[in-house]
Amino acid sequence: MMITDKVALVTGASSGIGAATARKLAAEGLKVGLAARRADRLEALVTEITNAGGKAMALQTDVTDLASCKAAVQTLIAEFGRIDVLVNNAGLMPLSDVDALKVDEWQRMVDVNISGVLNATAAALPLMIEQKSGHIFNMSSIAGRKVFKGLAVYCATKAAVTAFSDGLRMEVGPKHSIRVTCIQPGAVKSELYDQITDANYRQQMDELEKSMTFLQGDDIAETILFALKAPDRMDVAELFVLPTEQG
Ligand code: NDP
Repeated sequence: MMITDKVALVTGASSGIGAATARKLAAEGLKVGLAARRADRLEALVTEITNAGGKAMALQTDVTDLASCKAAVQTLIAEFGRIDVLVNNAGLMPLSDVDALKVDEWQRMVDVNISGVLNATAAALPLMIEQKSGHIFNMSSIAGRKVFKGLAVYCATKAAVTAFSDGLRMEVGPKHSIRVTCIQPGAVKSELYDQITDANYRQQMDELEKSMTFLQGDDIAETILFALKAPDRMDVAELFVLPTEQG
């Protein structure tokens, strides 16, 4: 199948890595569904992509809600006919120490970072199985490979994403010819750190940003495109992508 015949759904497409990925896929000729909660951001990106000659649609979606994910997939299919690529990218990272007991933030991370991936996968998988093809990208992190102080809950959610990706790949690759790629970025310039409510960790992240050149969302989009363009026989199972200066 030509890449230009493919249809993609990108979650968390209203900013950062997700927006960059949507732009990149649309520029390659895919039709792209943009899923996130901020409809104004999605509409602005649809306009940008359309003006550049691409095809995109805004799908206001809350990934913590399975019905919302199913509605997004159904609307995408009604408009573009199929779903070949799912980029499970939506995520949150409000850092804090565990003894600060910011339990609401823990729960939001579990809901978006883990349940969000499961919900969107559950919504898209039946159609990919029917099509006997598909490619699911799950956005884990360097934090899914090693644990950092202040990121205990975030690391736990990203370790879950990495584990789920591997298990999913083992099941749906051989049985349904669906590829699964787990992306594990290091520090990327985005709005992710804006949600940190702990002043000390916010300052630490600001200092980290001054200490090295972060990746751009476009760099991660490029790695997604690399895995997507690989021949069907080849599943790039994991991509660990770091800023050159990140130790
Ligand atoms: P951003 O904050 O820029 O993007 C996060 C996206 O998630 C937004 O589009 C937001 O959209 C969306 N989102 C949050 N909650 C929901 C929800 N309930 N339903 C739907 N969408 C939601 O950060 P990044 O681009 O950096 O983050 C993207 C992914 O990359 C995350 O999974 C993050 O953990 C991961 N990552 C980021 C790294 C970094 O250094 N930046 C490093 C490693 C991994 P909206 O608010 O409109 O719903």
